[in-house]
Amino acid sequence: MEQSAENLPFCIVVLSGPSGSGKTTIVSRLVQESPVKLIKSISATTRPAREHEVDQEDYYFLTPEEFEERKQRGEFLEYAEVHRTGYWYGTLKSELERAQKENGWVLLEIDVEGALNIMHEYPDALTIFITTPSEEEFEQRLRDRGTEDEAVIQRRLETARRELEFVDRYQHCVINDNLDRAIIEIKDILSNKAGELNNHA
Ligand code: 5GP
Repeated sequence: MEQSAENLPFCIVVLSGPSGSGKTTIVSRLVQESPVKLIKSISATTRPAREHEVDQEDYYFLTPEEFEERKQRGEFLEYAEVHRTGYWYGTLKSELERAQKENGWVLLEIDVEGALNIMHEYPDALTIFITTPSEEEFEQRLRDRGTEDEAVIQRRLETARRELEFVDRYQHCVINDNLDRAIIEIKDILSNKAGELNNHA
């Protein structure tokens, strides 16, 4: 049963993991099923929208100039250039306010660099890394998606290897060997955090 986070202290939940780890599916399941109401933060990016993507739903698609201006104005909680693509991604502070207004915890699905910045600024944030059982499986999942060309796949594999070095910095690492099992594990992590915050409230 979902519990409104209204009576709980606010919490930032950070989820990272390589593309191919099943992160996106996990995020949409969690938004539906989490024991504590979760509001998914909509990131800003300078990457062009993909065919099915909708501005202000999937991302706030910004020009590099707009991104830079907002950065200068201090509107970002964190930002990073992801996958060495030259594209910037960032979490707007206004997304935190939106989640708070909606009585939820904010869920950030961000890369390792952004996550490390959040850990530094907000040590109380709940941080979870999602991964696959093996590198072979991870590569297979990436290929199965069939959305990216070989150069992109290679770059994502390289990023994943680099990102895996930071797993230990996260409070939790969840292996997505089975989606339902992984979801249950994350829901338990969220319930425990809610219990912890309740005890300290
Ligand atoms: P994609 O371009 O496939 O939508 O996303 C690429 C990567 O960007 C994802 O793996 C995600 O973790 C990362 N990302 C998305 N939004 C943000 C953000 O706001 N900040 C940071 N640091 N990374 C993000």
